[in-house]
Amino acid sequence: MNDRRDPRTLLAHLASEADTTGHVTGPIVMSTTFSRDADYQLRVGIDYARDQSPAYLQAEAALATLEGGSDAMLFSSGMAAANAVFSTLRPGDHTVISRAMYWALRAHVQRFGADFGIAVDLCETWREGELLRVVRPGKTKLVWLETPANPTWEVSDIEACAAVAHGAGAMVCVDSTAATPIFTRPLELGADVVMHSATKYLNGHSDVVAGALVAKRESELWSRAHLHRKAAGAILGPIEAWLLVRGMRTLAVRVERAAESALELATWLERQPGVASVLYPGLATHPQHAIAARQMVGGFGGMLSIRTGGGSERAIDVAKRLQVFVRATSLGGTESLVEHRASVEGPASESPADLLRLSVGIEHVEDLRRDLAEALR
Ligand code: PLP
Repeated sequence: MNDRRDPRTLLAHLASEADTTGHVTGPIVMSTTFSRDADYQLRVGIDYARDQSPAYLQAEAALATLEGGSDAMLFSSGMAAANAVFSTLRPGDHTVISRAMYWALRAHVQRFGADFGIAVDLCETWREGELLRVVRPGKTKLVWLETPANPTWEVSDIEACAAVAHGAGAMVCVDSTAATPIFTRPLELGADVVMHSATKYLNGHSDVVAGALVAKRESELWSRAHLHRKAAGAILGPIEAWLLVRGMRTLAVRVERAAESALELATWLERQPGVASVLYPGLATHPQHAIAARQMVGGFGGMLSIRTGGGSERAIDVAKRLQVFVRATSLGGTESLVEHRASVEGPASESPADLLRLSVGIEHVEDLRRDLAEALR
């Protein structure tokens, strides 16, 4: 890919210029095995699809370019991508993870740490000085940040956290699913690896489960993660890879529209009497707005949450009355979604009982505003 072109241009042409067949849209590559020539040399450097496949080389190259990394890997889910990173830890190691993050991954890392003798500390990484208090120089091998953090959207200062982590000898991985490569480039801010649940904005159509990692540079962590993908086998299927590339072509226009609408709705929601508070990094009232304004370029993303007051009963009542927002989990699709996180996360949930998470889609913003106004009335 030609790096001088804007990412929007790269995305719009994704997988359309790479082969000699004249196809404007690339083929679905189904082959699981790849042949050798008469000199017994691999023709394209790939032998078997559990290791690498032409099905996702272009998506991986595009992700590396978008994030400013040297290499990228696709996985069968965001969880599989995250697992490839955590699997690089060894017994006796220490890892620090954001207290606010995708709850299922947080719970998994805590279980995994307990089972395999890896010390796991939760940290309010968005608070200045907190990470420095929690890291153990020489022992901490990985700091995991999620920013903005699901579902309360705290923003951690990637540059400051990376400086602390590196000072302690740890690598930094950022779950940048909500920010997308369009609004934040964690590798430029000092992170070593970026992770995405590609199920969300990268694919953008709620029809593929996928995950991605991008590395700033080669490292021991990266080669071990590579080995993990090959050995654990959590690879993306060719049809899913094709759908992901198709979705990525419109990434920029989708997320720019969603972020514009999210900012407009968040600003309006803050003034509504039926809303106790609005959690969105783009609002001046957000506690880390200054960090977000520095580290998120061109928009604050399409995710926000509202607290309705009145506990879970009032929140669920509002969700029940929405008609344009679809009541469903997940995020980052073209359709707007609403979810009562505490119900989904269960009794151990740290989400406030009156919190509704909104994934703002690409519908006309006035339809979304009217829907919310009627549900909140
Ligand atoms: N990270 C974040 C921020 C998520 O929201 C999710 C899923 O909801 C994941 C990771 C896990 O991704 P996947 O569902 O693709 O495994």
